[in-house]
Amino acid sequence: MTYDAIVIGAGMSGLAAGIRLAMFDKKVVILEKHSIPGGLNSYYQRRNFDNPGIRQFDVGLHALTNFIKKGEKGKPFSKILKQLRLSYDDFKLCPQTHSKISFPGIELKFSNEFELLSTEVMEKFPHEKDNFVKLVERVKAFNELDLSIGYSSSRDTLKTIIKDELLVEMLLCPLLIYGSAWEDDMDFAQFVIMFKSLYFEGFSRPEGGVRTIISLLMQKLEQVGGEIRFKAAVNSILTNERGQAIGVDVGGEILHAPVVLSSIGLPETVRLTPALESAATPRIGAMTFLESIFIFDKKIPLQQNSSTINFYNNALKYSYRPATDYFDPTSAVICFPDNYEAHKTEGEGTVRITYMANYAQWRDLN
Ligand SMILES: Cc1cc2nc3c(=O)[nH]c(=O)nc-3n(C[C@H](O)[C@H](O)[C@H](O)COP(=O)(O)OP(=O)(O)OC[C@H]3O[C@@H](n4cnc5c(N)ncnc54)[C@H](O)[C@@H]3O)c2cc1C
Repeated sequence: MTYDAIVIGAGMSGLAAGIRLAMFDKKVVILEKHSIPGGLNSYYQRRNFDNPGIRQFDVGLHALTNFIKKGEKGKPFSKILKQLRLSYDDFKLCPQTHSKISFPGIELKFSNEFELLSTEVMEKFPHEKDNFVKLVERVKAFNELDLSIGYSSSRDTLKTIIKDELLVEMLLCPLLIYGSAWEDDMDFAQFVIMFKSLYFEGFSRPEGGVRTIISLLMQKLEQVGGEIRFKAAVNSILTNERGQAIGVDVGGEILHAPVVLSSIGLPETVRLTPALESAATPRIGAMTFLESIFIFDKKIPLQQNSSTINFYNNALKYSYRPATDYFDPTSAVICFPDNYEAHKTEGEGTVRITYMANYAQWRDLN
């Protein structure tokens, strides 16, 4: 079978790539090894033992980052909507109230208005006022889309701008856990992407959670004539003598295409491509997470001071690395999905807690 393009993976990026290609009349197939779309931002259901029926759970996505108000232009989310021809209203976005970073004895709040974080930093770290302004200017001026800029350590860069180590730790905490598979540090370009996404633009949640996003993407893919196959794990990426991808082996079936897009991550892509064996092995991140979801018989009433997402850390230093035990309770992200504005007030309440975990320990459980 021959296609114009093959996309590996039906997470958000694979689905978006597939839609865009099909929209321009390319014969495209998305190959997904799982039985449902969404990738790390997905969902599952469990029987409800208290009441007849089932409970729906989201995994991964606590918040849609890069919040925009209706009509705002030139931002990542508005560009995606435009490119995929999706309507803002269909997402039914509920903005966060505010979120906070909690370290021993100190908190920094942030919201969809950058002003709040700015004021918080000025009040709690007055000696860093000018340096924080410098950091913000540096972030604004940095072109994170310029792929020719090589790796640079965010910690090293931050140290040259901000002197108070606690402020560095607090600013890094949400950005690392939401944006880095690597331990303790991140590429400065990735830091900038995350800083803009979380602190400049902020969080919202579509009514209906991650399912709303995935079903909008799936509907669009169908509308534009893209094909998707589930339980279709790619075993290897085929290349020609010049090392260019020309197709894939999916469960023994060979599919050909002059364009193969992989959305499964660089180390995984290298592993599937025998021709790349001699290429330098990309650094593989060791971060693993455990998510616990708690169900309450009613929603926690939304109060003025209720935060939507709380990034907490029980020490002054943020130790972002795999837990030594099954999970590390000294630091976590606590997400209150009911604390988004305009969410329903009736029904069961939910709290989600994401901890750093230890993959090997969970894998070796009998
Ligand atoms: C704990 C946690 C919380 C997060 N919270 C948020 C959040 O609140 N907000 C937010 O915006 N982001 C969040 N993220 C990040 C977000 O999940 C990712 O940025 C996003 O999922 C990346 O999408 P993707 O399509 O690039 O990759 P993925 O979601 O990883 O999708 C890759 C897909 O490829 C498939 N695949 C892999 N190998 C193969 C193969 N050989 N053949 C076929 N298919 C294959 C996988 O099954 C998967 O479906 C979170 C991530 C984690 C881990």
